[in-house]
Amino acid sequence: MTSSQDLAASEAEKNIVKAKAAPPEVRHARAPVSADSLKHRELRDGEWWRRLYPDVGEEEFLSHVWQMRNSAYGEEKLVDLIQGIAPDDFIEDLKKGFHLVPMAVRVTPYLLGLIDWDNPWEDPIRRQFIPLASQLYPDHPMLTLDSLHEQKDAPVEGLTHRYQDKALFLVMDTCPVYCRFCTRSYAIGVDTDTVEKVNLRVDPKRWEKAFEYIESRPELEDIVISGGDTYNLPAKHVRAIGERLLNMKNIRRIRFATKGIAVMPMKVLSDDKWLDAITDVLNLGRKLHKEVCIHTHFNTPNEITEITRRAMNVLFERGMTVRNQCVLQNGVNDSAETMTLLTKRLSEINVQPYYVYQHDMVQGVEDLRTTVQANIDIEKMVRGVTAGFNTAVHVVDAPGGGGKRDVHSFDYYNRETGVSVYTAPSVKPGAFFLYFDPLRELSDEIQAAWMDPKKQKEMCDQAIAETMRLRQNR
Ligand code: SF4
Repeated sequence: MTSSQDLAASEAEKNIVKAKAAPPEVRHARAPVSADSLKHRELRDGEWWRRLYPDVGEEEFLSHVWQMRNSAYGEEKLVDLIQGIAPDDFIEDLKKGFHLVPMAVRVTPYLLGLIDWDNPWEDPIRRQFIPLASQLYPDHPMLTLDSLHEQKDAPVEGLTHRYQDKALFLVMDTCPVYCRFCTRSYAIGVDTDTVEKVNLRVDPKRWEKAFEYIESRPELEDIVISGGDTYNLPAKHVRAIGERLLNMKNIRRIRFATKGIAVMPMKVLSDDKWLDAITDVLNLGRKLHKEVCIHTHFNTPNEITEITRRAMNVLFERGMTVRNQCVLQNGVNDSAETMTLLTKRLSEINVQPYYVYQHDMVQGVEDLRTTVQANIDIEKMVRGVTAGFNTAVHVVDAPGGGGKRDVHSFDYYNRETGVSVYTAPSVKPGAFFLYFDPLRELSDEIQAAWMDPKKQKEMCDQAIAETMRLRQNR
């Protein structure tokens, strides 16, 4: 080899080495994400409850019996607990708030420990459970106590049959917590200064009438067992109700509704009887080729901790599908950022986001409602951040019993008067269902108009007439 050939050969060798060493060129279709966008994986851990419960260790805190016994039920217990921790003016504010709302107050230590007591006014968990006089607004004149007409659509007490193949079975009227925004404030919890409740207590005789009705209607295939909250249902009743329904020829699907996983996840870790009962119902369903699942109710990412992950891991290992129904609330989760974090965090712990509800038109919680437009805007931002099956459908549960309608599917929406009109041809053909944006979001002039019964009627009539005109022009 000549020296020039040597040189060429060694250059060629170098190039081969270079080619081997150079990593293959990676094409990035999207810019790399910031660490912040992965915070859905970081769940609160450690003994964060110690500020409120300094003497309570992990074993005690993880006991559902301890949680139930130490829930703040009523004004006195709550005030005693937070005295010296929460600001004094906050405590005065809540003492007044307690007497102005339709729901009794009951909050678990799990949730109380998660509240930011340095700024409880803005805390998203506090807003959902503890009313403050300073934050309440007068009700919109179109608000009612049973805005979804659940009682009107009930052929048997505690059984609402609205959709053709599905019924809502209200087996009891208590819950481990009482949510301010509850759509069933007409029945749930004890009487308050403003509402005398309908009685839906645990009562196998009442349930029997519901079972007979369900059996008599061959079109019914899907039963939601709710309340109240099935977390509060003793294991023997979980098993009995589940077995009774699954053994009906017409029933294909049952869902147990419980907010419990969001407000007291330790029950799944410590109440073996309840867990075994619901697992047995799930296994019976499997054997009969029928679906059994849990529908739960997380509203903010702050409610999800490492304890929740542990509880969900147990349910997941047992094969239970858990879906989430969330209520859009002002100051709680009404931003794309919060709803995105909630969506991703639910997926992280194997809970499927199912629905995000427009806040129902119930009394006493006007501060928590948002406009329909806010809901539409948030949905647009959240859709696409993760897989479609892990993205909730945003709905309005049409006031007056139209059932759930996709929030975008209004027939007419007057953003000035705040009236949106929905129709539900397969639920109640020919009917119009009106939703009303909160007054505080409307102009002073329109707010004043809503105080005048004659103008109220005119605004409603205008919305319906416009809906009909738009239809004719289609
Ligand atoms: S857990 Fe459900 S039924 Fe009970 S108060 Fe809350 S929203 Fe109402």
